Amino acid sequence: MWAGAKPRWITYALTCEAVAVVAAAVALATGFGGPVRPVWFGVLVVLGVAQAEMSRRIERLRRWMSGQTHINVTSVWYLAGVVLLPPAWVALLAVVLYTHLWVRVWRQVRTRPAHRFVASTAWAMLSCFAASSVLALLGLHGTPLQTPRGVFALCLAAVVFELVNVGLVAAGIYLYTSQRSAADLIGTWEDNAFELATLCLGGLTALALVEQPVLVVFVVAPLLLLHRYLLLKQQLQVAAVTDEKTGLLNTAGWHESAVREHTRAQRRGTPGFAVLMIDLDHFKRINDTYGHLTGDDVLAAVAVAISGSVRQGDTVGRFGGEEFVVLLPGIGRVDVLGIAERVRVAVGELNVVISTGTGTVRVSGLSVSIGVARHPDAGPTLDDVLRTADAALYRAKEGGRNQVAV
Ligand code: GH3
Ligand code: MG
Ligand code: MG
Repeated sequence: MWAGAKPRWITYALTCEAVAVVAAAVALATGFGGPVRPVWFGVLVVLGVAQAEMSRRIERLRRWMSGQTHINVTSVWYLAGVVLLPPAWVALLAVVLYTHLWVRVWRQVRTRPAHRFVASTAWAMLSCFAASSVLALLGLHGTPLQTPRGVFALCLAAVVFELVNVGLVAAGIYLYTSQRSAADLIGTWEDNAFELATLCLGGLTALALVEQPVLVVFVVAPLLLLHRYLLLKQQLQVAAVTDEKTGLLNTAGWHESAVREHTRAQRRGTPGFAVLMIDLDHFKRINDTYGHLTGDDVLAAVAVAISGSVRQGDTVGRFGGEEFVVLLPGIGRVDVLGIAERVRVAVGELNVVISTGTGTVRVSGLSVSIGVARHPDAGPTLDDVLRTADAALYRAKEGGRNQVAV
C-alpha cells in the first residue's frame, strides 16, 4: 500500500477503517440499537458462508476479470442484517463474511491487494452500520416487516445502505485512480440494476427469517443464478474486445482504449500519445513455407514480443492479419522512437520453436516495419494519427522493410 497507493487514498482508507472500528466498538460497548438476537446473527453468518462456498469458483473468476466497480452479491445478507441486527452486530457480520471471502477467494487473486480488501471491508461495515443506525434512531428496528411501517423500514434501510456504499466506494475509486466518468465511479446502469436485484433478495431474506426461516432456502437458488449471470456477462464483455489468436485487444477493443486516451489527451493538453503501426515483413512466405497453423503460432509469439517491449499501460492490439498496433500514452518524440526500435529488435531476435505433428519447427529471422505518429503533431483527431502512422508504415516498407519510419 505504501508503495503503490496515492497518499490521499491511504489517508481516506485509514480514516474509514478507523471510523468503522471505533463506531462498531462504541456501539457494541453501549448496546446502541438494542440487544442482539444471536440466532439471527448466526443464521446470517451460516447463510453468507454457505452461499460464498457454493459460488467460490464463479467469484474467483469474476474477481480476476473485473475492473474497478464490482457488484457484491453478499449484500443480500447485509440488508437482512441491517433490518434484523443492531448496528455493531451487522458491522461484525460484514467483517466475518469479508474475511471468509478473503481467505477462500480474494487471497488467490493477485489483482486485489490486501489494502484494497481491507478498505472494502471498512466500507461495507460503514454502510451496514449507517443503515442500521438510521433504523435504530427512528425506532424502526423490530417493526413487524409485514406491516406498511415494516416495508418502509426495509426500503429505507436499502436506500441508506446503497447510498452510503456507492458514495464510499466511488470516493475510494476516485482517490485511487483519478477516474472521473460516472461509469467508472458508480458503475453502469446495468451494474446498479444488479445491485438492486440483490437488495430485493436481501429484503425477502429478512422477511423470510422473521416469518418462516425455512423459506430462506428459496433465496439461494436465484442468488446463485444471478451470480452466474454476472460472470457470463463479464466473459462476454472480455470476449468482445479480445483477439483470440493472440490474446491482445482486437480492433474494437483497441479503438475503445484509443478513443479514451484521445479524449484524455485533449482534456489535459499535455504530453501527447503516440501510435505504432506494425506489420510483419513478407509474412506470406512463412505461411507458404510452414503452413497457416504455424503462421498463427508465429503471430502469437510476435504478440508476446511486442507486449514485452512496450511499457506497462501501453495498449497493444491486433488489427487483423499480421498487423499490430500500439498506443503509447503521454510520451515524447524521442522516447517513441526508442520504443519502436526496441519492438523492431525484439521481433528480429525472436526464435520461435513450434511443435507440430511431425516434429518441431524453428522460425527465426522475422522482421517488422513500423510506422510512427504522434498526437497532436500528426493532427488533432485519432483518425489523423492512425492515417499518418499508416502512411509512415507504407514508407518503411518502401524503404526496404525492417525499419521504423516517422
Ligand atoms: P509485406 O507486408 O512485407 O509487404 O509482406 P506480407 O507477405 O506480410 O504481405 P501482406 O501484408 O500483403 O500479406 C499478409 C499475409 O499475412 C497474408 C496472409 O497469408 C497472412 N495472414 C494474414 N492473417 C493471417 C492469420 O491470421 N494467420 C496466418 N497464419 N496468416 C495470416
Ligand atoms: Mg506484412
Ligand atoms: Mg499486412
